[in-house]
Amino acid sequence: MIVNEAPPFKELSLNSYLFNDESLKLYEEYIGKTLLYIQKFLSNRKFYKGDDLEEIRENRQKAKLVDIHTSSPINKALEELNELYIENAIAFHNPTYVAHLNCPITLPSIVAELIATTVNTAVETWDQSISATFIEQEVIRWICNEYSFDENSDGVFTSGGTQSNFMALLMARDHYAFEKFGINIKQNGWSDKVSKFRIFCSEKSHFSIKKNAALLGMGYDAVIPVKVDDKMQMDAEALLLAIEKTKQEGNIPIAVVATLGTTDYGSFDPVKTIGKIAKDQDIWLHVDGAYGGCFVLTDSHKHHFEGVEMADSVTIDFHKTLFQPVSCSAFLAKNKEHFRYVSYYADYLNPIEAKDEERPNLIEKSMQTTRRFDALKVWLTLKTLGTKIIASYLEEVCSLAQQVHKSLVANEAFETAHEPALSTVVFRYKSTNVSDERMHDEVNLFIKNTLFKAGKASVASTKLNGKTYLKFTLLNPKNTIMNLLNIVKMIEETGAEYKPQN
Ligand SMILES: *Cc1c(COP(=O)(O)O)cnc(C)c1O
Repeated sequence: MIVNEAPPFKELSLNSYLFNDESLKLYEEYIGKTLLYIQKFLSNRKFYKGDDLEEIRENRQKAKLVDIHTSSPINKALEELNELYIENAIAFHNPTYVAHLNCPITLPSIVAELIATTVNTAVETWDQSISATFIEQEVIRWICNEYSFDENSDGVFTSGGTQSNFMALLMARDHYAFEKFGINIKQNGWSDKVSKFRIFCSEKSHFSIKKNAALLGMGYDAVIPVKVDDKMQMDAEALLLAIEKTKQEGNIPIAVVATLGTTDYGSFDPVKTIGKIAKDQDIWLHVDGAYGGCFVLTDSHKHHFEGVEMADSVTIDFHKTLFQPVSCSAFLAKNKEHFRYVSYYADYLNPIEAKDEERPNLIEKSMQTTRRFDALKVWLTLKTLGTKIIASYLEEVCSLAQQVHKSLVANEAFETAHEPALSTVVFRYKSTNVSDERMHDEVNLFIKNTLFKAGKASVASTKLNGKTYLKFTLLNPKNTIMNLLNIVKMIEETGAEYKPQN
């Protein structure tokens, strides 16, 4: 057997491409090169280069993986990547980006990402995670405390609010089935009884509630939308009526979802009232705080969290309102016992007989097996910035929303949909020379698309009572009212330019 005669290209690839104690210099060099592209990404740039169909078609070709059977220098690949991706990427930190729930991210969180990715810890079993286990648990403990959840609570990091909401509905369903009917869904799978289970949430709740109900085999129809009041908050009376009606129809209410910070309006469902109803009905209370959850840190919004300790589970997205890179989200359960509905003991990973309180396996709380160490960025952010600075960022974006709203109310060219509850503003441009209601929808979409394609501003759109509205989602505390009013001005100018087709 010839052991020492490895082909030369293998030698080369072992030293040039894998991260290890011999490749540190190269690692530094790669990082240095990358930094140059990052500098370009930041230097006097619009939020978006702009939309050009020719170029989009070219980029589709440029993304193709051709000639990949042999190696090629990274400089070339990076240059191509820059042209294809970085130069075209949307810059969420740019103040003309006001569309979706993407935030500018903290510097410590980026450093933490670099460390977590380089060390490549998988927060899975103790023998893979060691102290990373404690860092994740500590961040979970911190946020549990903010929600007045006691030592009996626990949580886990997830890929996002959608996955967190999935875990909540799964727990709610399996817990109800087990407690009330002795049905063990985890072991035995579906039961006809479960077809009658119903989940309540406000009509303004996030679509992931319905989507997850479908993924859980319960279907969209298992989700009953409850009317909101004029502040876009769930109407508790309507919730009670809906629950009664469902029972009369022979179905079984099992859970209610209170949204803290609806995606479009930032509105907070009255969690205390809803919590009491959930207790009376003996059903699960899930709090979806994907957007609003971090505002528990602010003085201005803390009162909305009164009663939140009644929740059985909570979703909170740090990649939306804690200024963290994607992905970064947590799922909390008030009673840690309920994680048994997701836990699995695999012989090769975490055999139950090896359970050790001092050396926990986080995998027991997660849907995922191999999982990123996302908690590190929150931990480093908290230790560096502290919660006061984060709270001040959140207060600032809410204040900007109030100011924009005020100016829109005073402007005859606009109609607003709500009083901002958090940092979104929903409004529509109303052209004076358009009489047909439907035409206003077209004008607003025209405005949104024109500004986006020109790289001037990214504004979102949504629908309210069938009408199209524009939406600002403000998550950048460095934004200014001057800049936002300038976007409003561009909207007005673009709206005035609209010419009906044909
Ligand atoms: C964004 C959002 C979600 C989904 O979260 P992802 O992190 O995008 O999966 C769920 N609920 C609400 C209220 C949201 O705003």
